[in-house]
Amino acid sequence: MNAPAPRFFAFDNSYVRDLEDFYVRWKPTPASKPVLIRLNESLAVELGADPAALATDEGIAALAGNRLPEGAEPIAQAYAGHQFGGFSPQLGDGRALLLGEVIDRQGRRRDIAFKGSGRTPFSRNGDGKCALGPALREYLISEAMHALGIPTTRALAVVATGDMVRRERALPGAVLTRVAASHVRVGTFEFFATHRGPEQVRQLADYVIARHYPQLADSAQPYLDLLAAVGERQAELVARWLGVGFIHGVMNTDNMTLSGETIDYGPCAFMEAYDPAAVFSSIDRHGRYAYGQQSGIARWNLARLAETLLPLIDPDSDRAVQAATAVIDAFPKHHAAHWLRIFRTKLGLDESGEAAEDRALIDDFLVLLSHNRLDFTLACRALFDAAAGHPARLASLMDSVEGFPVWQGRWQARQPTRSPAALAAMQQANPCYIARNHHVEAALAAAVDHNDLAPFERLLAVIQSPFDERPADAAYGQPASSEFTDHYMTFCGT
Ligand code: AMP
Ligand code: MG
Repeated sequence: MNAPAPRFFAFDNSYVRDLEDFYVRWKPTPASKPVLIRLNESLAVELGADPAALATDEGIAALAGNRLPEGAEPIAQAYAGHQFGGFSPQLGDGRALLLGEVIDRQGRRRDIAFKGSGRTPFSRNGDGKCALGPALREYLISEAMHALGIPTTRALAVVATGDMVRRERALPGAVLTRVAASHVRVGTFEFFATHRGPEQVRQLADYVIARHYPQLADSAQPYLDLLAAVGERQAELVARWLGVGFIHGVMNTDNMTLSGETIDYGPCAFMEAYDPAAVFSSIDRHGRYAYGQQSGIARWNLARLAETLLPLIDPDSDRAVQAATAVIDAFPKHHAAHWLRIFRTKLGLDESGEAAEDRALIDDFLVLLSHNRLDFTLACRALFDAAAGHPARLASLMDSVEGFPVWQGRWQARQPTRSPAALAAMQQANPCYIARNHHVEAALAAAVDHNDLAPFERLLAVIQSPFDERPADAAYGQPASSEFTDHYMTFCGT
């Protein structure tokens, strides 16, 4: 590697500094002919970087891994994980590298990491690479989630490497630069609990508390409180997913962050027709990670985190199990509270109603959607339109839906009028535009097969402002044909 590139980021690398035995120092594999495909300029500014500098040849060389930016200390992080319920003791960054951390303009510590930057000691049989399509897919969907107000890792850049990646066919390779609150996963705890012991788990837990939950630093029972705090964030995160029809697709414990951000956009998708059993991932044959399973899985993952913390929670193992179990058993209650808050906002219901009655009203609406295979996003948005005085769309959507007039009567009786603020909140909870699968696939195909980034840029612009309806973008608000959706599959490890 050549002399260090200029100082694009003001790195301050706490993971490298504080957690010496938790990673392997490693270097990215240089790309043979890097081309900048996409730079997230506003995110670069947020990180205190100069987008114009990042778009120069030197900047692109840095974003390709060809010249390390000054201050970067690239590492591959060690982690384990439960994948589809089975424990894999040895995963780790097989095709990712953490370049370092910056303090952003709002004072938040953020990781800057590569995905697709070549093999590492954790690559096992993988090639360490990422194809352009999946890199752009992560870019699109993570930015869509961010625009929807959902905690998520972000995408800073995609650089095509000029090298081919061998998949079912040869595909152009890419490096995605990902920004995260951190990359500590439940699987990180599992790795150190399995291979090292309680003292290293404590070191990691102390690091996570300092970085993500500083209010717990002086707690009398910090590790139990950490478990509860992570559970709270995950309970809310999954409720937010459900509110926009998001299916993560591969909720393995190595893909669940301690920070509460959505991470790892592999076989994820937005649901169209409402269906709790909806699943698009090609490898999820039993629907373990279906739309409606996600809160149960988050709780299951939290239990795996709890197991790693038991020795720290109480030296008496029975007492530790009892305390941790109480936290895990509280998860459904927390999740249900977030779910109710989110769906009340979607339906424009204030907090005055009786919780059980509101839950029934919401559930009955969802049952109507699922029995009639109605598009979740369109139907919810039509409720907003009706509440805002434009009932025509709801009427036409529900035209032949048996039972809808009765439901609508209950809905109107429950909340006859709404304040402008309540309507605004309702609008912000019911997007017009999600990253619909057929548009995502069309954009990726144009980029990968025809070198045409225009559909990607157009779709990105649409999903970056999801709540304001624009007649020119009408096509992006429409679901795919059922022939498309019935055969739609997303892929992992791509
Ligand atoms: P994922 O399914 O992306 O969450 O990845 C699960 C594990 O497989 C992680 O340890 C990844 O680093 C690793 N992995 C996935 N794809 C590759 C690849 N192409 N080369 C090396 N490791 C990979
Ligand atoms: Mg992963």
